[in-house]
Amino acid sequence: MEAQHHSLSTPSTPNNSSSSSRCAPPPDSDARIVVYFTSLRIVRRTYEDCRAVRMILRSLRVPVDERDLSMDAAFVAELHHLFGGVGELPRVFVGGRYVGGLEEIRQLHEAGELQKTVQGFPKVEPGVCDQCGGYRFVLCDKCNGSHKCFLGHKNGGFRNCSVCNENGLVRCSSCVTVSL
Ligand SMILES: [Zn+2]
Ligand SMILES: [Zn+2]
Repeated sequence: MEAQHHSLSTPSTPNNSSSSSRCAPPPDSDARIVVYFTSLRIVRRTYEDCRAVRMILRSLRVPVDERDLSMDAAFVAELHHLFGGVGELPRVFVGGRYVGGLEEIRQLHEAGELQKTVQGFPKVEPGVCDQCGGYRFVLCDKCNGSHKCFLGHKNGGFRNCSVCNENGLVRCSSCVTVSL
């Protein structure tokens, strides 16, 4: 008999974030913290929660992979894949496990649990990345940030650059790579 259901297609309940800790890990989320957030100020509370959660996570001095939804539509797609939608921001994964948003992180941090969880993670030196200035994205080399590549007149002139995202940005390699 065929399997009747696929566990991945089970919709997560957006109103109960603690129940979604079973969700699949996002890409490249081992031995680091991944935070999905927005740097846009459209909803003030969301913006401030995102800011606050990033401050807490940075204070841990372990790799924090900050995925700004307003910088790259690929991060929006990742959330759709993981949760079936963006839902509330921020969303934090620790070592590939979904933890929750600001409230969950704040509680774990105050209880000292967060520090314990990240103990095995590589340490990072505090300071601003000199390659991207802390933006975690750099302007694309290939198209100089225009997101258009000239192919020659025969091929119809311009085509979208395959290296960068829709904003002409690529992720900063020195922020993403974790050096021990
Ligand atoms: Zn490009
Ligand atoms: Zn950088």
